[in-house]
Amino acid sequence: MKISIIGTGYVGLVSAVGLAELGHEVWGVNRSPAKIEKLKKGQQIFYEPGLSKLFKKNLEKNRLHFGTNLTVAINNTDYVFICVGTPPRADGGADLSAVKIVAKQIAKFAKKDLIIIDKSTVPIGTARMVQNILKKNKHKFYVVSSPEFLREGKAVEDFFHGDRLLIGADDKQVAKKVANLYAKLKTYKMITGLETAELTKYASNVFLATKISFINEIAILCEKVGANVEDVAFGMGLDKRINKYFLKAGLGYGGSCFPKDVKALKHISKTNGFNFKILEAVLEVNMRQRKLVFGKAKKELSSLKGKTITILGLAFKDNTDDIRESAAIDLIKWFSKEGAKVKAYDREAQNNAKSVLKDKAFWCKNAYEACFGSQLVIIATEWPSFKTLDWAKIKRSMKKKVIIDGKNLLNREKMEKLGFKYIAIGK
Ligand code: NAD
Repeated sequence: MKISIIGTGYVGLVSAVGLAELGHEVWGVNRSPAKIEKLKKGQQIFYEPGLSKLFKKNLEKNRLHFGTNLTVAINNTDYVFICVGTPPRADGGADLSAVKIVAKQIAKFAKKDLIIIDKSTVPIGTARMVQNILKKNKHKFYVVSSPEFLREGKAVEDFFHGDRLLIGADDKQVAKKVANLYAKLKTYKMITGLETAELTKYASNVFLATKISFINEIAILCEKVGANVEDVAFGMGLDKRINKYFLKAGLGYGGSCFPKDVKALKHISKTNGFNFKILEAVLEVNMRQRKLVFGKAKKELSSLKGKTITILGLAFKDNTDDIRESAAIDLIKWFSKEGAKVKAYDREAQNNAKSVLKDKAFWCKNAYEACFGSQLVIIATEWPSFKTLDWAKIKRSMKKKVIIDGKNLLNREKMEKLGFKYIAIGK
């Protein structure tokens, strides 16, 4: 089949490459000429494990084409995936301006009937809004909601082995056509209505965010009563009804999805006259975790002015270069505001962090350089490589030997044996 993908970011590019691998011919569109130039040359525009090889393979097979011109792409294809960003507005609602622009462009330039599939995370009613915009064109358009569930860092695996493929549509035959694009995948294909598909995406993400905030509340209680949150979480996770995932206490969730989706669901509820009570607490707890780590550092160093603090990890989680809503970014801003010298390192996310924070931190070549002369190290991303650093060497190079493990990544016994003061979350 011939498919166009509008917005070749984390979701769009992975979908483009995945669909090409399934044998389809895909046109990827991005409004950024710089990104398109790179994509045409087979260069990645973000870090995602396993994507580069598949990307190059399908580019060579001529199954992937890239351009900035939406008109060319949609009029060459039968299916159009909308994968543009839907960032939060100041009031918490999702900013749909990119989705609207794309819908208006399709309405203006489409010269044929199309199936439009929305993969972006959008408020309930967006598919119908897109349908309305498209009415301005004489051709027939079928709007489908197929929200994306991939995880950054595991996006390729999730494309081919996802838990489910959700397809919301008014017309079941159209939904089946979309499901058929993925016929080669064993993924469970769930067909439902438009509103249900749109809400299922928010409900899933917000539930996971709630699980994280819940375990962070338990972590606070653990510190008060002398329990160990990792053991509590393990014990809870053994129960199949609960499962072990998203029960990691620490700095809280970040990234481009959970923070904005919790806010958006709160906003959607409010505009529908419903006060979704848990969500305020989920948001509050998440922000508190960052402040908690900041407070622990302040307590250790008395005053932050003139102190040297190392932040290991800048991405919101491991295996990605995405720094959107990353706790590390907030921490660096807060430390630098209080006059501390911040030294930072992340193998993949450093350039993105640097472009946002500029001179708020000293950008180091590796973890050793970042820790040299420091008084306190904060682990802000769970990169597995931080576990295997030569911590004895790091200890020798530090002025004061304090680690705050914001991700509960390291082993307390080992760190204490080496002579560190080791501070974790909830244990
Ligand atoms: P992203 O910012 O990485 O990518 C969006 C891309 O769209 C950008 O490259 C941007 O240049 C491009 N774009 C914006 N407007 C455009 C236009 N008018 N025409 C062409 N290109 C345009 O965003 P993302 O992380 O891929 O997320 C996209 C959507 O998918 C969001 O709604 C997000 O909530 C959702 N989602 C994201 C993830 C994730 O892990 N990143 C997972 C599931 C769902």
